[in-house]
Amino acid sequence: MQHPAPAPSAPRLGSTLSRRVLPGIVALLLVILLAAVFAIAHLADELDERALTRGRFLSGKALEAPHDWMGRSIADYAFWGDAYVNLNRQPNIDWAYEQQNAGPSLYEDFCYEGLLVINPEGETTYAVVRGELADLDAYRWIGPGLDSLIEDAREAAEDEETATGMLMVEGRPAIVAAAPLTTGGADVEEMSGLPSVMLFVDILTPERLIEFGSEYGVSQLRLADDTDPVGATFELQLQDGTPVTFAFTPERPGRHLLLLTLPILALVAFGLGLLAWLLLRQALRTARIMDASYEYLATSQQALEASEARFRDVAEAASDWIWETDSQLRLTYLSSRFEQITGHPPSAWLDRPLADLLTSDNEALQGWLSAPDDVPLRCRYRAEDGRERHCRLAARPIHRDDTLVGYRGTATDVTEETEAQARIQHLSLHDALTGLANRNRMQEYLSAVLEPLAHAPSPLTLLYIDLDRFKPVNDTLGHAAGDEVLLQVAERLRICTREHDLIARVGGDEFVMVLVGLSQREGVERLCARIVEALDDPFYYDQQRVFIGASIGVAVAPANATNANELLRCADIALYQAKADGRGTWRFYASEMDERLHERRRLEDELRTAIQEGQFVVHYQPRYLSSGLALRGAEALLRWQHPTRGLLLPETFIPLAEETGLIVPLGHWVLREACREARHWPNHAVVSVNLSPIQLRRGKLLDEVRATLIESGLPANRLELEVTESALLHDGHATLELLRDLKSLGLRVAMDDFGTGYSSLSHLRSFPFDVIKIDRSFVAGIPRSEEDNSIVHALIGLGRGLHMEVTAEGVETAEQLDVLTQAGCTEVQGFHMSHPLDPQALNALFLGAGAFADER
Ligand code: C2E
Ligand code: CA
Ligand code: CA
Repeated sequence: MQHPAPAPSAPRLGSTLSRRVLPGIVALLLVILLAAVFAIAHLADELDERALTRGRFLSGKALEAPHDWMGRSIADYAFWGDAYVNLNRQPNIDWAYEQQNAGPSLYEDFCYEGLLVINPEGETTYAVVRGELADLDAYRWIGPGLDSLIEDAREAAEDEETATGMLMVEGRPAIVAAAPLTTGGADVEEMSGLPSVMLFVDILTPERLIEFGSEYGVSQLRLADDTDPVGATFELQLQDGTPVTFAFTPERPGRHLLLLTLPILALVAFGLGLLAWLLLRQALRTARIMDASYEYLATSQQALEASEARFRDVAEAASDWIWETDSQLRLTYLSSRFEQITGHPPSAWLDRPLADLLTSDNEALQGWLSAPDDVPLRCRYRAEDGRERHCRLAARPIHRDDTLVGYRGTATDVTEETEAQARIQHLSLHDALTGLANRNRMQEYLSAVLEPLAHAPSPLTLLYIDLDRFKPVNDTLGHAAGDEVLLQVAERLRICTREHDLIARVGGDEFVMVLVGLSQREGVERLCARIVEALDDPFYYDQQRVFIGASIGVAVAPANATNANELLRCADIALYQAKADGRGTWRFYASEMDERLHERRRLEDELRTAIQEGQFVVHYQPRYLSSGLALRGAEALLRWQHPTRGLLLPETFIPLAEETGLIVPLGHWVLREACREARHWPNHAVVSVNLSPIQLRRGKLLDEVRATLIESGLPANRLELEVTESALLHDGHATLELLRDLKSLGLRVAMDDFGTGYSSLSHLRSFPFDVIKIDRSFVAGIPRSEEDNSIVHALIGLGRGLHMEVTAEGVETAEQLDVLTQAGCTEVQGFHMSHPLDPQALNALFLGAGAFADER
């Protein structure tokens, strides 16, 4: 069986998306964003840098421009004839200040803080500071470098130029313009010596700086302090070379750009991120759904494949075959097992009605199918080889869109099961050996036949047949022989009867025959005669002739009984009577037989009570040595001192005691009683005790004997046990074992009634009996019967040959005693010498040893 390989694991789109694509997109976006930010930052930086450069340039320009203006405006004053006249040597205050030709207006109009005139000697001849006349020394008001400036001015004047410079005034840098006073080409008298020098001073106050700066678009032009960034400062040199640092507040276009673009960028990034996330989420969801459906698809496919494989395996491996029909019950499918089981090729049956193939005993196929029922239908069909087979059908309707389109199901072959059941059924009702009906079947049949009989009586005859000498066959020849004989018996019984008569074997060697419609008594008698005759003829087993014979009890319904058990009981009673009447015959049931049976039951009860109440006694029949008739001992013989019927002899109760098993406790009692009694006998007298075959078979005889010897104190060699040949018939080997064990206790074993039973010399040879007792029936024939004479002689010879003592029983005459003594018999026993005696009488005999006595 091959299973499909598991499907390759599905590409997980969802996980790929979430694991690779999502971070990819995010990273890409980040990179783009970073690049943008970087570019913008770079741009902003550039812009800022450029703005700084420009700022520095413009700031320079802003501080340069005042130099030009001042240069030009001082030229207007210094290169002016009037000024030359009025201010060169002795300043004309009135002209200059009061008339405002060179006075406060400079401050008011141009915001020049100072207008000074310095003569060649370096004295400050005229000074207006912030529009007020002032008395000050220019060299003290203005920081170092003034001389150099004045020098520059005198030189420049030659070219009608002026000089400007930056100097410290009142602790702040100031632009100072200088020009020597000249006639300015006017028609005035030139004075000798060096002209005085006019100075304009413009102090770079914070306001002034801002003003200058703003002229050039520079914001917050100022003197630098420590906090100003280097980029936003620049250096200028004072007239004496000392550096002064200015600062301005630079424009920050880059920063503006950043401030403007970054939020937008952030917004864009956020928007993009959000969009990406939404898209991705959607994509992931879709992907997950795709994954799930792929997985579902894959598993469904696997399940489908597995299910198909399973179906195939089941269909091929199962002993069942699978079928399908259309709604008309015509076969449309048959699994491959069909051919293997039925032998028919499926093609032979496809398109044919299912009912042609299968037939059911119970129910029509169509009816069973249409009524939904889970109980399978048992069907029969013919296999290809023509043999009838059985199957169990299970079915389900097939519906398509709510309409019935057919049926499908399985057919389980149950032929073997069915046959086994039939076999079991047969076995349960028949005897396995002979094939005849058994007791169950007979009872069943009898009840069935008697049932209507109770209402409408019509004669029925029941024969109870018992084989007379079957047990010995089984015991001596073995069970195989017994079985063979039983088979032959069954055959002969069949031949005797008509076909519809029932013959049953109801026990080991018991048969019952039920005959219906045989009304005439003569007819029954003839049949019984035929049966007895048939079974009287010898049977053969292994070339051996075996004689059996039979007894028959007859009961008739409704005359004797109308109930099966009652009828059987009647036949059984009749059989008992037939046996009692000498076997090999038949008896019809009669009500008196019942009484006899009751008698027997009563006896059985009495026997039980007798054992319990000790109604038994033992008598002893003396045994004599044949030569000289010395008293050798005595045989214990059981007597029943019956409360109403007097002293009963063994033959009246021993058979019953044996049948009921009561012989076991009874025999044990006799043994103990005899041993106890014999213990006191003089002259080492021997006691012999009879053992029933039942005692040898059942009970713990060996233990009992051993215990009894110990208990009584009787020496073992004074005890003799008598067994009959029949005791050896049942399981002879085990019995011989037991006898050997008994002998090993030290006692003696005698074979009783020798010559009457299934005399088998082999027993005698295989077991060393100490004594054989010749049956009194042979002794009785002495001396008239020639045959008995020779038998007795032969038996005595045999005993001697086997080194066994020989005792003769039933010696009733002196003549017999004589013959036996002559023949070499060891011991004699019989009425001629003594009847059995009660213990006291025996003791008296011992005392007067030798005297003959009579039983009382
Ligand atoms: P058995 O063992 O052959 O005993 C001898 C029988 O022969 C005795 O009969 C005895 O009375 C009888 N008998 C002795 N001499 C003569 C004679 O000269 N002529 C005739 N006709 N009979 C004689 P009993 O006592 O009636 O016993 C019959 C049988 O009962 C015994 O035959 C024995 O088989 C059996 N039996 C007796 N006592 C016991 C017992 O305690 N246990 C068992 N299992 N069987 C016993
Ligand atoms: Ca005996
Ligand atoms: Ca005997």
